Amino acid sequence: MIKGIIFDLDETLVNRTTTMEAFLLEQFQRFQYHLTISPEAYVAKNLKAQQNGYVEKQQAYTDFCTNSLQDLGLPKKLYADYLKNYGYKPQAIDGAVDLLESLKQTYTLALITNGKTVCQNRKIDGLEIRDYFSTIKISEEEGIAKPDLEIFHRALADIDLPAQDCLFIGDHPQNDIETSFSLGMKTIWVKNEKYEAPKSCHAIIENLADFHEILNDIKHKEAV
Ligand SMILES: [Mg+2]
Repeated sequence: MIKGIIFDLDETLVNRTTTMEAFLLEQFQRFQYHLTISPEAYVAKNLKAQQNGYVEKQQAYTDFCTNSLQDLGLPKKLYADYLKNYGYKPQAIDGAVDLLESLKQTYTLALITNGKTVCQNRKIDGLEIRDYFSTIKISEEEGIAKPDLEIFHRALADIDLPAQDCLFIGDHPQNDIETSFSLGMKTIWVKNEKYEAPKSCHAIIENLADFHEILNDIKHKEAV
């Protein structure tokens, strides 16, 4: 029986792409006198260098400056600005906060996210969703990241539930879905066009508005 629901953060509850685009536009304004490209090119080239968030930002800024023939003293300054300012204005995935609100009475909720502690905490607090979760695991803080099973085990220990009683919802096929599936959790993949579908999952969701219907289907199958 599903008693716990564990969420990924970026591209599951937070729209990382639009949040990052807005941040990069603001960052461009702060650094425009050092930059020789348009704001649009600045956003596009940095997003590309970040590869959906999976390249360390310091490296991504170095790659951007190298590939865009920008001042090579800039990456350090851009990275410091990122740590200082990114995450204060998170944009939610449609329906994310309402979904958490509707689940909190019935289920124990948890969050496991890969990223910088300071930036992930800003996004969590910016959306005012911290209090929905019984535990929050951030990879930098834990010293361990998805898909390492240890970070899942730590979250499960905190909420005191076996994996079999939990459902995981996230957008990364390996880090979120295949790992939690292998632990025996039920899994919902948040479809993300940037990735191939996971090798195994219980359901695919494109819109959080469909979550309850999908959850009911999974519970029904579990019961028969
Ligand atoms: Mg994600």
